[in-house]
Amino acid sequence: MNVWPLKFRERADGEFLFADDAGGFFKSDQSFLQRYVERVLTTKDDEFLRRQGHAFRDKIDAAFDGFCGRWARRINPVSELNYFILIPTLRCNLSCDYCQVSRARESASGFDWNDEIRRQFLESLSKLDTETMKIEFQGGEPLLRLDILEEIRDFCRNNFRQTEFVVCTNLQSVSEEAWNFLGANDTFVSTSFDGMEEVHRSQRTKDPVLHDEFRANLQRAFSQFGTAKVSALPTLDVHNLPEPEGVMWSFVKLGLRSIYLRRVNYQGFARKRYDFKDTQDTWMQFYRRFVDHMIEHNWEADEAVEEYYLSHLLRRIFRTGIQNHMDLRNPNWLGYDYLVVDFDGKYYPTDEARMISRVGRLDLSIGNLNTGIDEKKRNVLNSAASNFDDPDCVHCVYQAFCAPDVIDDLSRYGRIDIPRHETAHCQHHMALFDLVFELIYSDDPKVQYSLGHWLEVPNYRTELAARLK
Ligand code: SF4
Repeated sequence: MNVWPLKFRERADGEFLFADDAGGFFKSDQSFLQRYVERVLTTKDDEFLRRQGHAFRDKIDAAFDGFCGRWARRINPVSELNYFILIPTLRCNLSCDYCQVSRARESASGFDWNDEIRRQFLESLSKLDTETMKIEFQGGEPLLRLDILEEIRDFCRNNFRQTEFVVCTNLQSVSEEAWNFLGANDTFVSTSFDGMEEVHRSQRTKDPVLHDEFRANLQRAFSQFGTAKVSALPTLDVHNLPEPEGVMWSFVKLGLRSIYLRRVNYQGFARKRYDFKDTQDTWMQFYRRFVDHMIEHNWEADEAVEEYYLSHLLRRIFRTGIQNHMDLRNPNWLGYDYLVVDFDGKYYPTDEARMISRVGRLDLSIGNLNTGIDEKKRNVLNSAASNFDDPDCVHCVYQAFCAPDVIDDLSRYGRIDIPRHETAHCQHHMALFDLVFELIYSDDPKVQYSLGHWLEVPNYRTELAARLK
């Protein structure tokens, strides 16, 4: 019997989680670990490992092929360019303390796409060999340049079979023309709502009139377009966290069932104004309490709530080939299937790379509309795109589900080669995966009920009810 290499991690309950490179996992005890390490597995062990897909007899048996198939499907392939994040203007009508993009004042000049950039971008689109196109308008506040948004949307609709547009707006000031623009079927609104009204007001604008304008616009967006078209993301200050239950209820009241909890990002103005040291434990305590509240809520409520990233991790664990979140996919190829085009026409591999460049930390641009992609820089960035050969990740039980974040490492440490366990990205994901596996192995029916919802298991309500009878 050949056993695929198993990685392991001791759990809080003293047992051990084991996983192979294809993402198969199980829980066992110290004595199994000892037998595995000393290569004295019993017949029962062998039988269990073979049945669960962690072992094979020889290279022509189905167990071997099955493992290879599962392993291969976990690899994120390079795919065609069909997604752009555009910064038609860096100007903004708000001045939030934690602005991650170092926005420019609304009245500033020189921070908008000029005619030449518009022309070059449309020309570059016309050369693409893709049938689908997704455009995300970021900023600054993109609605300050509705004319550019309209021109690009018209062009895409005429040149691609399937199109989708997302306008990331602060909803502070929305003209009737802008409401009309946002109302189209292929156009979605992504806005910010910092968990609770008082938190949002204190973080975004102290001016009550401006806050009332935002609140009215937020309500109008939900009532006019519904939650299928409008999403709202909170940005939370780890040093001033609201009550998790209050955050959850604020979103439920808006009709939102998927909540993506995010901390203030270590970017832009926030680098100078926020203290990021030693915040991981505080954040995880808050996060765990939030998850507990969701589980209680879901057990009682008609409509269940999810934390988006937690659900994403679960899906990556249970379903091979889930690569639809740009921040966690392995390898995370940079500068291929999506690109950021800044207000000055420069290309960046991610929005965070643009933010780092903007504060002068490192120039992570990878070319521009005029000269095209800088292949050399893109290749250097992609030299650490996967965790397959990272000397720490190769020993990690979570490797098959996790992924590296080169840009975050560069942002925080200015390099990508420091021991993985010392990085904020790794520590955060280690804590998240610990939590996820704690939930997976929980016997609590309330937890199992929420897991069924988060994993989109068909008929999970009736199946759980049958099991509990
Ligand atoms: S980054 Fe950390 S948690 Fe993720 S696979 Fe690597 S060692 Fe594991």
